[in-house]
Amino acid sequence: MSEKKPILEIKGLKKYFPINTGLFNKITGHVRAVDGVDFKVMPGETLGIVGESGCGKSTTGRTILRLMDPTAGEVLFNGKDLAKLSKEEMRQMRKDIQMVFQDPYASLNPRKTIKQILLEPLEVHGIGSSRGERMKRVGEIIEVVGLRKEHLNRHPHDFSGGQRQRIGIARALILKPKVIIADEPVSALDVSIQSQVLNLLKNLKKEFNLTLIFISHDLSVVKHLCDRIAVMYLGRVVEVTDKKQLFNNPSHPYTKALLSAVLVANPKAKRERVILQGDLPSPANPPTGCTFHPRCPVANEICKTKIPTLQEIDSGHQVSCHLFLEGKPKGSTEELIG
Ligand code: SF4
Repeated sequence: MSEKKPILEIKGLKKYFPINTGLFNKITGHVRAVDGVDFKVMPGETLGIVGESGCGKSTTGRTILRLMDPTAGEVLFNGKDLAKLSKEEMRQMRKDIQMVFQDPYASLNPRKTIKQILLEPLEVHGIGSSRGERMKRVGEIIEVVGLRKEHLNRHPHDFSGGQRQRIGIARALILKPKVIIADEPVSALDVSIQSQVLNLLKNLKKEFNLTLIFISHDLSVVKHLCDRIAVMYLGRVVEVTDKKQLFNNPSHPYTKALLSAVLVANPKAKRERVILQGDLPSPANPPTGCTFHPRCPVANEICKTKIPTLQEIDSGHQVSCHLFLEGKPKGSTEELIG
């Protein structure tokens, strides 16, 4: 029996932004927004990426899609490394991986009608043999996202935030992609309409057999939608496992702290509240060793000097923490700070 292969595999992905200072714009350092991210996404699953603002989750999404070029690492889509494709090859590939952006107000061109916005990707990728065929597709997709054909001649400013996000989803779907990366797609919306958009995404994923990467700072939103969850801290994945395991048995101290702040429906299912000290450190000057050590309630000496790597502690459950590596062969955690 052949084993199911990941549709997307991210290996050692890094994205550093140079810091320029002085009269001659000399590079004096780097912001390590994404600093060695690894994860896999299986066909048809929804992977949630969660973490505080500034942890690198959105940059990870954008780097996968080559909206910004990676500094290092591989982005394997069906085994093909997107990081090595030419601009033209990547343009072709984009019809298979689409993005839904956080801000529906900024991501739609205000001067274009919805019809023009939805026709554009079809024209760019030469899909449909005639304008009539393309218009048929546009008419179908607008209804799929819960709007009507008469909306097509209007402009983005004629719509509410929730409707604009539906248009953003329609634009991503119109090319029949295999993967959609949704970057905080409901965080700019009123709470009252967030669940409508989340349910729409859930239904569309099933209907179109999509693979979804859902980026959010909100664990309760991720819980609603995702099969597996990757927790990011300061440019790295610190824990990844399926949703049930993450919520029932969080292992990384950072995940425990995040979860302890989430309200639970059952008051008997009490969680110990973990208050993290201090703020997220700057990715321009990350702490040595485990970057979580200045805030970690159970840090020890080794944490200050050695970077833990992501290790499997249970089937499909990976954690990056020295606490789980005791007794394991030396060498797995020997990556000293350069
Ligand atoms: Fe805490 Fe050390 Fe584990 Fe980092 S490696 S999470 S500092 S115990």
